[in-house]
Amino acid sequence: MYLKALEIHGFKSFPDRTRLNFTGGLTAVVGPNGSGKSNISDALRWVLGEQSTKTLRGAKMEDVIFGGTQLRKAMGFAQVTLYIDNTEHTMPMDTDEVAITRKLYRSGDSEYKINDQNVRLKDIYELFMDTGLGRDGYSMIGQGKIAEIVSAKSGNRREIFEEAAGISKFRYRKTEAERKLLAAQENLLRLKDIMVELE
Ligand code: ATP
Repeated sequence: MYLKALEIHGFKSFPDRTRLNFTGGLTAVVGPNGSGKSNISDALRWVLGEQSTKTLRGAKMEDVIFGGTQLRKAMGFAQVTLYIDNTEHTMPMDTDEVAITRKLYRSGDSEYKINDQNVRLKDIYELFMDTGLGRDGYSMIGQGKIAEIVSAKSGNRREIFEEAAGISKFRYRKTEAERKLLAAQENLLRLKDIMVELE
């Protein structure tokens, strides 16, 4: 499983559809200050479901949409697609390539897609769980991340190891199951109350 390409359209400083192909080995992005290097890693975080505007270096989510320049008017949407090689089927999908898309309109409407099929954000989180690449994965080490890991509480540090060991998915499923169980117990209680009233 590796990143094959990133397609950016209308995101931050990329008004034109721009495709970056990662052809194995090491890829370095170089350019002058303010030329948009960090916007590429922001696009990667964003397509994986990042919801924190602070992490995306903005004040509100709309700030990720190309805001226009003196020569070019602002755009109405931002779209990013990440293409992942899945020939080893590390990701639980039948296809040899997995394409993840996120689109945000200025109206606030947003879309998430996996292989061109509309999905929920939750589906994207679940797809990347235990791969290390998800929103909270350890594959992306931003500035200050190492210091944060070292000084983190032991519980938070354990989450990083759990993601690497492939345990996060089970912890997530356990929490989901407990939540459903609690909801079912509450429904049962309500049902019992109604039955008592009817008797
Ligand atoms: P440095 O080397 O200084 O860290 P960088 O190459 O990483 O710089 P970025 O921070 O990725 O640069 O890009 C900053 C540029 O992106 C700025 O010129 C800023 O105006 C532009 N930019 C950010 N958001 C938007 C937006 N929504 N619309 C248009 N341009 C944007």
